[in-house]
Amino acid sequence: MGILALFTACSPLKTEMQDLAKDNGAETQIFAMDTVMKMTIYGENAEEILNEATQEVYRLEKEFSVNIEKSDVYQINKNAGKMPVAVSNETLHIIQKAQEVNKLTKGAFDITVAPIVKAWGFTTEKQRVPKADELSQLIPYVNSDWIDLNTEENSVLLEKSKMAIDLGGIAKGYSSDYLSQWLRKKQVTSAILSLGGNITAIGLNEGEKWKVAVQDPLNEDEFTGILAIEDESVITSGGYQRYFEQDGKRYHHIIDPKSGFPAESGLISVTIIAKDGTKADGLSTALFVMGLDKAVALWRNSDDFEVIFVTDDKKVLATEGIADSFEFVGAEQGYTYSTISR
Ligand code: ADP
Ligand code: MG
Repeated sequence: MGILALFTACSPLKTEMQDLAKDNGAETQIFAMDTVMKMTIYGENAEEILNEATQEVYRLEKEFSVNIEKSDVYQINKNAGKMPVAVSNETLHIIQKAQEVNKLTKGAFDITVAPIVKAWGFTTEKQRVPKADELSQLIPYVNSDWIDLNTEENSVLLEKSKMAIDLGGIAKGYSSDYLSQWLRKKQVTSAILSLGGNITAIGLNEGEKWKVAVQDPLNEDEFTGILAIEDESVITSGGYQRYFEQDGKRYHHIIDPKSGFPAESGLISVTIIAKDGTKADGLSTALFVMGLDKAVALWRNSDDFEVIFVTDDKKVLATEGIADSFEFVGAEQGYTYSTISR
């Protein structure tokens, strides 16, 4: 078929634009949630449905953004330590999911890391290295147990005034789950979404699985491998996606909530493959923080996600359940490949 079957996890701008008209499809690229999003769908009324889908993305962004003043998240942060804020079902749901991942990962994923992310300037444009004592004053307020969710009144209270939440590590995964459900309700049976390089496949691509390339974290023009997927999400976290440099050192945007510093765990990217894109997004961030050994232990205790790890000593490792759907292509760039068994 006319459409290029290869979608690159983490490099949405690099996918080629195709003439979809002959395939009864439509494609759009927008900037939302601080990233590039690309949606491709097939079937009747594809263009009209895409227009509506775009509006849905902007609507979600308005609920989840830390910077948009009317957003639920902004209001929750503004009223921290003061009073509960009434929020949408969606905001309540995404925070609940964040709490689940927080428990599962023993705190490696924590949306209350927001004050630290802010201190590093990742939510603004002024990135900087905070002083050690500035961080040590903020770390006590990283505590998801102090988020009070009231599911009867649909409200959220942060117990301490210095607390804040940031959904950046989970919002794109949630949005992809939301959009794929929404598209299915519109009778769409074949689509692929790339929300900032996080890929969600709906159905098949002309009877074949969708092919998704996993980016080489050390070279944005190369891949480490190609995944074949159907009705699932492929979500990558890596220190190479968003970072700044100061005095010759690189500081990236995935924070270890325990130290307040960018996580240095020996991993350079973590790609999660799962049906539940929200959980996959939280896990990709968390497993990156945890490092290989703890991440593998968590995978061994779970049955609802698979992982491709890339380590700083140039190993690509795939968990057993995805190995058959993963074609390793990183040898030329100096990577070695192996699988991780249960
Ligand atoms: P990306 O947003 O680039 O796809 P992630 O899903 O890994 O990457 O999310 C990183 C974002 O999540 C950061 O920009 C920050 O807003 C937030 N964040 C950073 N560290 C953590 C953490 N340990 N737990 C939860 N959220 C985090
Ligand atoms: Mg994430």
